[in-house]
Amino acid sequence: MVATEKNTNKTVMVTGATGYVAGWIVKDLLESGHTVHAPVRDPADNEKLAHLRALAESNSGTINFFKADLLETGSYADAMEGCEIVFHTASPFTINVKDPQKELIDPALLGTRNVLETANQTKSVKRVVLTSSCAAIYCDAIDCASAPNGMLTEDVWNTTASVDYQPYSYSKTLAEKEAWKIADAQSQWDLVVINPSFVMGPAIGGKPTSESFTLMARAGKGEFKTGAPRLGFGLVDVREVADAHITAAFTQKDAGRHIVSGHNTDFFNILSALRDRFGKDYAIPKSAVPKFLAWMIGPFVGLERKFVSRNVSHPWKADNSKSVNELGLSYRPMKETMEEMFQYMIDAGYFRKK
Ligand code: NAP
Repeated sequence: MVATEKNTNKTVMVTGATGYVAGWIVKDLLESGHTVHAPVRDPADNEKLAHLRALAESNSGTINFFKADLLETGSYADAMEGCEIVFHTASPFTINVKDPQKELIDPALLGTRNVLETANQTKSVKRVVLTSSCAAIYCDAIDCASAPNGMLTEDVWNTTASVDYQPYSYSKTLAEKEAWKIADAQSQWDLVVINPSFVMGPAIGGKPTSESFTLMARAGKGEFKTGAPRLGFGLVDVREVADAHITAAFTQKDAGRHIVSGHNTDFFNILSALRDRFGKDYAIPKSAVPKFLAWMIGPFVGLERKFVSRNVSHPWKADNSKSVNELGLSYRPMKETMEEMFQYMIDAGYFRKK
């Protein structure tokens, strides 16, 4: 955990506090004694909020819940009143959707507009920390090779996602662009953007439905036991993503984007990190699926052939030096992140031994 400013209890708002990533941000804030305003879709959902209430009870900070929805204009106004910092993390992260416009793009884009326009009308707001994604920087792993010096940096934008191809990435790209547009048109608050790669690691409680957990649940149930594709992506521990948000809010001087990614890796590698500790009891793949086979069977396991062509066996590379130098991040080993996440999921009942 990053220590926030001492003796300065601030009132801050966190959208999406029920989510996986935001949970760790809220935990850090409550441990540092801040007052957290948490607008959620259903403040009466005791099951979803229990772990957050328990955290507030055992720490010096306070949490107050409000009712809001990304798609209801003005619904964040009450929660934002009196807040100096706004963390905007809420946005659906799911890949398996029927209507990408409705399920991903509208909540991401209209939600960002809704929250930031309310910031314009709330005079106490001085800084907005936006949870964007590396998905707003690249579309496919093949893009890394054509980036300057073969590496993604904060200067690169995703230019090829669309409503029909990688719509989650498209939703994050549109949302971040909208945030910059609104930020640049005013001078009351500044915008710091965090762009995490694929987030892994344990949750603070509950049973998250984030795509991070959906994918690992498929692995834990043995879906990749005969082999996993070398699907190139970056990986970061959720606790480092939270640290990045806290530093961005309280100590980072400069606005701007920040790639937050600990490891340039691929899907087979991240599952291999589980083999030593869990290989005996769970169906962890022992080999990578050859690309041609992944291409052939892709459509039967939910992977478009275009996606396989552009992502499997293409090394993913991003420059994380800005996060190290300006946010002071140091990244833990991937094996630790993966083992702790898998153990969390076993304990939470996501899957059973083979
Ligand atoms: P998550 O656990 O599914 O959290 C998503 C949050 O968004 C939930 O709190 C959800 O609230 C809220 N939300 C969704 N639709 C909403 C709506 N219409 N109105 C209000 N709230 C709504 O996913 P996550 O992985 O923590 O993702 C959080 C943020 O991190 C997202 O912006 C995501 O794009 C970003 N991110 C995630 C990753 C990753 O690998 N996980 C990587 C990069 C960036 P409910 O509880 O009510 O559903």
